[in-house]
Amino acid sequence: MIDYLIIGQGLAGSLLAWELIQRGCKVVIVDNGRENASQVAAGLINPITGMRFVKSADVDTFLPAAKQLYSQLADFFQQEFYIEKPMLRIFRSESELKNAGKRFNSPDYQAYLTDIQPPDKNIGILVTPFGFLEQKQTGYLLTRPLLSCLKAFFIAQNSYRQADFDYRDIQLQPSLRWQDIYPKHIIFCEGYKATQNPWFSWLPFQPVKGEILTLEHQTELPDKILNYGNWLIPLNDHRIRIGATFDRGNLNIQTTERGKNDLLHALSQISPDLSDATVINHQANIRPCTQDRQPFIGLHPQHKQLAIFNGFGAKGSLQIPWHGRHFTDALLNGAPLSQACNIQRYYEKP
Ligand SMILES: Cc1cc2nc3c(=O)[nH]c(=O)nc-3n(C[C@H](O)[C@H](O)[C@H](O)COP(=O)(O)OP(=O)(O)OC[C@H]3O[C@@H](n4cnc5c(N)ncnc54)[C@H](O)[C@@H]3O)c2cc1C
Repeated sequence: MIDYLIIGQGLAGSLLAWELIQRGCKVVIVDNGRENASQVAAGLINPITGMRFVKSADVDTFLPAAKQLYSQLADFFQQEFYIEKPMLRIFRSESELKNAGKRFNSPDYQAYLTDIQPPDKNIGILVTPFGFLEQKQTGYLLTRPLLSCLKAFFIAQNSYRQADFDYRDIQLQPSLRWQDIYPKHIIFCEGYKATQNPWFSWLPFQPVKGEILTLEHQTELPDKILNYGNWLIPLNDHRIRIGATFDRGNLNIQTTERGKNDLLHALSQISPDLSDATVINHQANIRPCTQDRQPFIGLHPQHKQLAIFNGFGAKGSLQIPWHGRHFTDALLNGAPLSQACNIQRYYEKP
């Protein structure tokens, strides 16, 4: 008997399936095998974001859970997936420098900030007219190798099916069924495609398209992640990834000249030397963002055998490990879900 049928092998479905399997559940995960947002994502984890340098909600809780899970997976698969690397936040205005200065002096932020530098302190070829901030506890997840290791693991467990899941193939009564599988629950983790899910499309998703470039260059760069409104990740001495655009209007996965040019233009502002870099890959996909910027987790209000684990927006790498563990606690032990992410907030007003 299968306990959980999970639809979608992105980061959400994969990490939830992993957690459930670790706790002794029988799981089957279904995916169509096409490139997804998780594979395209840069996997960045950045605790302090935005122009005001505010600590992400719950980062003090989410980050240890993420690091713990990625290190457990690294031990299991004998390869590193989470690369911790400091981040240089290059200010784009005097007010950014001022805001960052306030955070730098706050005890709440000590664990995440290393140094702040005033204008014109040079860092190699980078242009820093308003100064910069050095952050710690930042890094990125190698999502593609992680997902392919997990896929191989699920296949070896006889827990993976490649299929285009059609919602009409689900039988709810007398017992839940899909094809030859009679699961106790189905958990939907289809990323932005959840907007087409007949049981959960009422949730206010706000998908956002993003484009990313991989470049080769011959320039000396610091071995640090750069954040200048956009971000740059040094993959090795001559290869970088830069991203990402935010486009709410064109919800398709086509790469565009405009996306590419916007990313290259922003890059040339922090280092004209990088204008000579060669584009070797250009990717696009869609983030499963939500109207209130909180995940969508929980059981369907009428059909309790159907559940959703989705809506991780632009922060899947940071948020999914903690939520995966807590949703598993809720499913297996009836532990309460946090109010902020529970989909109950949309069908039961206090
Ligand atoms: C350009 C870009 C940059 C990003 N950068 C970052 C970043 O730096 N840091 C970060 O944390 N996050 C980042 N994200 C966001 C990140 O991708 C998401 O938070 C996370 O990966 C979402 O995972 P998911 O499993 O919910 O969705 P997905 O990865 O999209 O997975 C959903 C899966 O379900 C499958 N599926 C859907 N419907 C069906 C069906 N009917 N039948 C079979 N299979 C189906 C899909 O094929 C897919 O494999 C970025 C996203 C983009 C697009």
